[in-house]
Amino acid sequence: MANAAVHEYNKALYAPLAEVDPVVQNIIDKETWRQYSGLELIASENLTSRAVMEANGSMLTNKYSEGLPNARYYGGNEWIDELEQLCRKRALEAFHLDPAKWGVNVQPYSGSTANFAALTALLQPQDRLMGLGLPDGGHLTHGYYTAKKKMTASSIYFQSFPYALDPSTQLIDYAGLASQARIFKPRLIICGASAYPRDWDYAALRKTADEHSAYLMADIAHTSGIVAAQELADPFQYCDVVTTTTHKTLRGPRAGLIFFRKDGENHKDLEKRVNDAVFPACQGGPHNNTIAGIATALHQASQPTWKAYAQQVVKNARTLASELIAHGYKLQTGGTDNHLVLWDLRPIGLTGSKVEKIGDLLGITINKNAVSGDASAQVPGGIRLGTAALTSRDMTEEDVKHVADFLHRSVQLALLLQKEAGSKMLKDFVRVATTPQDGKVGHHQVRTLKSEVQTFARRFPLPGVVGEIKRPEGIPEDD
Ligand SMILES: *Cc1c(COP(=O)(O)O)cnc(C)c1O
Repeated sequence: MANAAVHEYNKALYAPLAEVDPVVQNIIDKETWRQYSGLELIASENLTSRAVMEANGSMLTNKYSEGLPNARYYGGNEWIDELEQLCRKRALEAFHLDPAKWGVNVQPYSGSTANFAALTALLQPQDRLMGLGLPDGGHLTHGYYTAKKKMTASSIYFQSFPYALDPSTQLIDYAGLASQARIFKPRLIICGASAYPRDWDYAALRKTADEHSAYLMADIAHTSGIVAAQELADPFQYCDVVTTTTHKTLRGPRAGLIFFRKDGENHKDLEKRVNDAVFPACQGGPHNNTIAGIATALHQASQPTWKAYAQQVVKNARTLASELIAHGYKLQTGGTDNHLVLWDLRPIGLTGSKVEKIGDLLGITINKNAVSGDASAQVPGGIRLGTAALTSRDMTEEDVKHVADFLHRSVQLALLLQKEAGSKMLKDFVRVATTPQDGKVGHHQVRTLKSEVQTFARRFPLPGVVGEIKRPEGIPEDD
């Protein structure tokens, strides 16, 4: 063995995780078991591939490489340069971009840092920007603030103003945005969202941006996998900058990308501004292990099979939407164009928090979300659902119908529990759901439904895991 003679203090460098740190290994095993046994419906999540996880856990994690290919602050970057160049080439290919017109920076650690670097590149401090309001489906990093607080760097370091949905259609109010922009005169308009089930009219946004010589940036964090498959409108046709995460529908490791235009007078030095904004303005050394994972994910997203995956994600979301509607529920905009469904629970008298909670008790992972017209931002009236992860678990329309049925039964059970709790307090709701109560059936039904959900979920493979998934220590036999 090559390492037989190493010093005592270096011996642990060669042992597997399960040996060196069984406590952390056990936490990983329990989380794997949870992912295997449950239904993952969080719209921002996906299940990445074994290949991406291998790249992410590789020797590349050891290397410092501040700077860009062929212009590094450290030596030893021969192969890192090859990797980053490959990743950039694949990013342009995956999104069908001409390298003469577009460039990309693949170093952002995540979507939020990609966005802040993009703002740093495009704007001066305290310049004005507009983004979709958070309660209307926008993201924190698009300028979010409250009456009392500037919540994110995008409102602390810049002047921001939100645009909104048209309450009658729940679609982006493009006309309202255009007239607000005439007053606010933004330097930058950000489009893209975290909870918007419809596609975007990029041409309309471009027109408004041009009226004020503003930049147009699309943040396609949620939808980039579907955009790459050309199953949604193409933001690159109209935008100056496009940012994305790589771990949502794109199904890669956790990171971000910034695409920038290189052609035309307006974009003359954009490449340098974006690159300088990422490093040294906002970040330090790139995470090369992650960049390898991105390169691998982009390779997968450029295969002919990717289109089929993206199409199935959308078909599954449409099936989920139509099944919920068939059960009599209300959805924001009445359906979906992408991977996401916004379920309005107000007509049946439940809050998003309660349904998220019952979901957790049943192994159905979902998140509460504001819906258009919510009276209070503290009490979101809806739930956001997404089909990217279920589709990665190989589910198709017939399976999604079962999932919709589980969701229907979950909210009906939540209504029963709310009644049995005799109060609208979340803690009373949790108490009757989790402990047997004399003369009440809700708790029993939670256990039955949970077991059905688990049996169903365990019929499907879990991406990245080959072979049998065993119940780890710390998970009870009946769980
Ligand atoms: C998820 C998301 C982000 C942030 O990504 P992180 O990787 O969590 O920092 C940014 N913008 C939008 C629209 C998102 O949905």
